[in-house]
Amino acid sequence: MPDVNDEPLAANEISTRSAGQSAGQRAAKAGLSGRRIVALAGGIGGARFLRGLLAALREDDPAATVTVIGNTGDDISLFGLRVCPDLDTVMYTLGGGIEESQGWGRSAESFAVKDELLAYGAGPMWFGLGDRDIATHLLRTQWLKEGLTLSQVTARLCERWQPGVRLLPMSDDRVETHVLIDDGTSRRLVHFQEWWVRLHAAVPAIEITAVGADEANPGPDVVDAILNADVVVLPPSNPVVSIGTILAVPGIREALRSTTAPVVGVSPIIGGAPVRGMADACLTAIGVETSAAAVGALYGPELIDGWLVDDVDAASGVDGVVVRSHPLFMTDIDATAAIAHAALDLADFVTL
Ligand code: GDP
Ligand code: CA
Repeated sequence: MPDVNDEPLAANEISTRSAGQSAGQRAAKAGLSGRRIVALAGGIGGARFLRGLLAALREDDPAATVTVIGNTGDDISLFGLRVCPDLDTVMYTLGGGIEESQGWGRSAESFAVKDELLAYGAGPMWFGLGDRDIATHLLRTQWLKEGLTLSQVTARLCERWQPGVRLLPMSDDRVETHVLIDDGTSRRLVHFQEWWVRLHAAVPAIEITAVGADEANPGPDVVDAILNADVVVLPPSNPVVSIGTILAVPGIREALRSTTAPVVGVSPIIGGAPVRGMADACLTAIGVETSAAAVGALYGPELIDGWLVDDVDAASGVDGVVVRSHPLFMTDIDATAAIAHAALDLADFVTL
């Protein structure tokens, strides 16, 4: 990021801009360097925000540590392989292996295995398993079969990718998001991936359920990380099937409620629509309007202290929550780092 401290300030900008720029200095003065930051994350929205957060911290607080609690509700078994799309998106994005053009999957991917499967007439073909990506799933599946937990497997995979964060699956127990749909002829339950990837969420969801969540335990250190955090951030991930699924694991919502750390969220909804994907279809399924204010209210004062919305949504109010606005399009790393700075500033502000 350019050093905005060098830019002249108009008089009416001074109070807000100096608050925005001095987060690191104030953190250092308050003895808050080396902050323990915890983020809950889904896939693309979470991973892109985290990349900006790490860039912001390199400048502001290089001694900070970031723990990411990743959604595993999207996980699916395909051809005997355990696939964890959101964990992998975070790992590949932060580790430099992501296919930038689509935001998921491995860069420079090939699809020879998929073509061979197609030649056998084997499906499903709607889920794009690439050759490089398959290596990750092969190892994960083998290690799980050897008896390692998903947390241990994820840590091992991260040894290669060095994502710069501690990536913790929300749970080592199996939780899978299923969607009840009505396709006109019948009602049936499908795996979240079938609704999302094959049906593009175009068939209305009657109900979205995190199957297994009720009996799941949070992964090792998930609750402690939240309780011992200095700041907790909810990135602009899908509030229903990413953050919502993580919160469905008993103990995680309670930890967010009881942590003394400020909890701030960043809106994935700008001007009444998701920036990408079909979060609106998920929100409709749970009876929540697709707006920054409604998602802020969905989390509400029990979970969040601060809510960052885009400038177009600056008039949004959320009862009991401090709302601030900032441009929220994660167009590049600098723009995303600025969003992360704004989120950390908001965390400082709500702590005062
Ligand atoms: P997924 O698991 O890959 O669907 O990713 P997440 O759940 O982590 O994030 C999906 C959400 O990211 C969507 O609801 C988008 O609206 C949001 N999103 C994507 N790009 C941006 C962006 O540039 N700015 C904001 N504010 N949200 C974004
Ligand atoms: Ca996801």
